[in-house]
Amino acid sequence: MSLKSFKRALWVYHLNTGSCNGCDIEILAVLTPRYDVERFGIKLVGSPRHADVLLATGPVIKQMVTRVERIYEQTPDPKMVMVIGNCGIEGDVFHESYNLAGPIDQIIPVDVYVPGCPPRPEAIIHGVAMAWVKLEKLAKQEVV
Ligand code: SF4
Repeated sequence: MSLKSFKRALWVYHLNTGSCNGCDIEILAVLTPRYDVERFGIKLVGSPRHADVLLATGPVIKQMVTRVERIYEQTPDPKMVMVIGNCGIEGDVFHESYNLAGPIDQIIPVDVYVPGCPPRPEAIIHGVAMAWVKLEKLAKQEVV
């Protein structure tokens, strides 16, 4: 496995697994000039192949299961998976709905949970910072 450095930048891929878009709007708010996470090197990318972190929202509808698995496999190691919002964590308002296969950690491993409906941008930024710290530790273990 190749050495990756997360000292300067963290690239994030946003994956909607069937959310109501409430959490997704908060993720967009994190990128606006008010919060401006790009100044810390946190950047949204258009392909999971370029990502260090998967930001997943929504409870995982049945049609999304193979896509979620494929996107997880396409993301290079070491990687982190973050679940944004109660739906992805435990179903929330969609709990036990007929067309759900989630929550997300029943499909792929999850490293960081950010609860809320939706969580505030500050909570999302805190979650990304936690994922960043975990990734740096993981990368160091791989080098040793
Ligand atoms: S947690 Fe709330 S805001 Fe987020 S996708 Fe679910 S219902 Fe929507």
